[in-house]
Amino acid sequence: MTSLIEGRTGQWEIVIGLEVHAQVTARAKLFSGAATEFGAAPNSQVSTVDAGFPGMLPVINRHCVEQAVKTGLGLDAQINLFSVFDRKNYFYPDLPSGYQISQYQQPVVGAGRVILDMPDGSTRAIGITRLHLEQDAGKSLHDQHPRETYVDLNRAGIGLMEIVSEPDLRSAEEAGIYIRKLRSILRYLGTCDGNMEEGSLRCDCNVSVRHPGDPYGTRCEIKNLNSVRFVMQAIEVEARRQVELIEEGGRVEQQTRLYDSARGETRRMRSKEHDHDYRYFPDPDLLPLELEPEWLDRLRAELPELPDAKKARFVAGYGLSADDAGVLVAERASAEYFERVAEGRDPKAAANWVMGDLFGALNRSGLGIEQSPVTADRLGGLIDLIADGTISGRIAKDVFAEMIETGEAPGTIVEAKGLRQLTDSGAIAAAVDAALAAHPAQAAQYATNPKILGFFVGQIMKATGGKANPALVNEILRKKLAG
Ligand code: ADP
Ligand code: MG
Repeated sequence: MTSLIEGRTGQWEIVIGLEVHAQVTARAKLFSGAATEFGAAPNSQVSTVDAGFPGMLPVINRHCVEQAVKTGLGLDAQINLFSVFDRKNYFYPDLPSGYQISQYQQPVVGAGRVILDMPDGSTRAIGITRLHLEQDAGKSLHDQHPRETYVDLNRAGIGLMEIVSEPDLRSAEEAGIYIRKLRSILRYLGTCDGNMEEGSLRCDCNVSVRHPGDPYGTRCEIKNLNSVRFVMQAIEVEARRQVELIEEGGRVEQQTRLYDSARGETRRMRSKEHDHDYRYFPDPDLLPLELEPEWLDRLRAELPELPDAKKARFVAGYGLSADDAGVLVAERASAEYFERVAEGRDPKAAANWVMGDLFGALNRSGLGIEQSPVTADRLGGLIDLIADGTISGRIAKDVFAEMIETGEAPGTIVEAKGLRQLTDSGAIAAAVDAALAAHPAQAAQYATNPKILGFFVGQIMKATGGKANPALVNEILRKKLAG
């Protein structure tokens, strides 16, 4: 789905490539044993390696390598059995060693792809260029003191996976779908928690524009976006800026830019001519990374079922629509919850309850599915009570609201509140008689106005507290009105 910009000189296509920095889920840093926990007191998780002390030696964290390789497998990517760590040299106060250990020409993961599910039901494959491992930098705090900048090195040395896409994306919307899908895959794999608020997933956005069919235009890179919304806004704003610039006779200069969300504009940070020469060279403290094929085979065999495969199975196995299946598989925990509810029950009823009532209630209270006050087994129990006629679908909504409120079992609530459906035809007939007797004028209208039936159904439901079996009420009413 391309979304073209209408300019004075015709239509413009947006071309986007993303560089996502995903924090590796690991207890220790990439080359030191210091902890990675978020929110610790400043500089409390810093080893001498992270602080760049002279003579300290980095030691690769095997688990981080495993996480990167798993991610590569999840992206259907080429895994390189031989890769190299380089030093990327630059000066910044939050980089005490004066270089970042990264991978440059020989990354651990090569070409792969991410499949996007488009809103019109089609799919699009977006190429992954590479994934490499690198260290995060520390953090400069400019708001702690009126004149001075503080540095927190807790983040310094934490393992990041930089995931670079091909320039295959064509709209802000596609970029949003791409990030969400990538995030979903990372979370399934357990290799990155995907928490954008805590900075576990950050994105640099490369944007250029061209008339459809033309060669690629010159791109600008917008740095460090930390929400899907900002990525989408920044792309729109930057593409429009470039179109205007070109149409006014100017030329796009390759720049690094910042997105100012308050003003809704991108601003120049530095141009490529002034860009760093990083003087990459292989880090002499580290051996090249060599992976054993058997180890790789083991990781491949242990991969969980990923969103695309799960979605296909939900459509084929449960008869769900692609849209519904897509919603349910976006998070692994939701998919597992659904499957537990659906086990031995009508899958469509299960999907409706999970996506409608449950997701709605969780959204309203700001809870994730892991914190759901209603367990999958209890939601299943509620569906069983409808299926066996104990309660009506209408009453089930009230029971569910009570379950969300109290976490009680559905059966307990039904008994305590006397919500069992009334299926005793004698009792229903009595309620029907009472209603007819109370409203003789309306009853007389039935011959000429059969719609009056609805009025009586309402009266009887009111009288029985909504508990009368609707099918029985209709049947008995019809007979009595006609007779
Ligand atoms: P660099 O080495 O300068 O970072 P890369 O070739 O690695 O450049 O590209 C970085 C990112 O820019 C990639 O995600 C790529 O898809 C994207 N990109 C490259 N050319 C363009 C272009 N003309 N328009 C938009 N994005 C582009
Ligand atoms: Mg780059």
